[in-house]
Amino acid sequence: MGQVVVISTGGTIASRWQGSGFAADARGGDVLATAAVPEGVTVRVVDLMSVNSARLTTRDQLALLRAVHEVLADPDVDGVVVTHGTDTLEESAFFLDLHHDDPRPVVLTGAQRPLEAPDGDGPRNLHDALLTAATEAARGMGVLVVFAGQVHAARGTIKVQTLAADAFADPSGSPVAEVKDGRVLVLRQPERPGPLPVPPADVVLPRVDIVTHHCDADPLLFNAAVGAGAQGIALVATGAGNATPEVVAAVEAAIARGVLVAVTTRVPAGPVAEIYTHGGAVDLAAAGAVLTGTLRAGQARIAVLAAALASGDPAGRARALRHAVGGAGTAEA
Ligand code: ASP
Repeated sequence: MGQVVVISTGGTIASRWQGSGFAADARGGDVLATAAVPEGVTVRVVDLMSVNSARLTTRDQLALLRAVHEVLADPDVDGVVVTHGTDTLEESAFFLDLHHDDPRPVVLTGAQRPLEAPDGDGPRNLHDALLTAATEAARGMGVLVVFAGQVHAARGTIKVQTLAADAFADPSGSPVAEVKDGRVLVLRQPERPGPLPVPPADVVLPRVDIVTHHCDADPLLFNAAVGAGAQGIALVATGAGNATPEVVAAVEAAIARGVLVAVTTRVPAGPVAEIYTHGGAVDLAAAGAVLTGTLRAGQARIAVLAAALASGDPAGRARALRHAVGGAGTAEA
């Protein structure tokens, strides 16, 4: 069927008992040895790192992006699988997807149960990811997340279970394919904007923070992020994207200083929308913040990060952010 390269980064799928708890320490070859390789698929492993994904940095995610692009520079490769911790898998998947400029699939997977668990979910997930990466029908679908028999588009997909095996879903959408009886059945094509350019090796890494609104919240933490040098902030608002007049004033002042502000919501599903004033999304948008549709906090932050990496000037960054957030089209960053 084809040649697949597995890029191993760690996570529970590569975790062993450390005496007091589990942590990633296995190499990609050990992880691959647990899974049945689909017939006709040949696999090469790249050991990029072995860490729990809560520890990942922008530098690590850029290293992963470059590793994927290096692997795909080989025309004999049919697809890529990235084994990754589930905690921040949605962030790396979306970061890769925003920069993915190749029809060949990149598939992220992991596990909720550790490497040597007798009833582990890693072997099945890895098998299904290999099958998806080698499948002709998955071409053109961008970066995918394969977990518990389901195939999700990177965009919009989040971790929805802390412990259960069906860990991922798009709460505002549906899977794009499923793996059944050893086959990948495509259900729909994901909507993806054109790719952003891969940042140059010497790009300066911007600080991008997340601030959550709640009852009794004042702008102190938002302003602290600006004071800490944040070049972008994802504001996790309430409801359809609402906060207070005081927060709106802080957002306006930050944007005047060149800070990119994106608005997402604490609610699990549905888009943010310009409905309310007196501190609501109507006012946040008027202040220059970008509403992020159905992206949740981690991915809204990644959209801001990608925009900050794509351009040096505030107007270019705002354009890149709108592009990253929106449906189809071409990058004009
Ligand atoms: N619980 C995580 C996992 O499933 C740990 C991590 O994200 O690395 O892999």
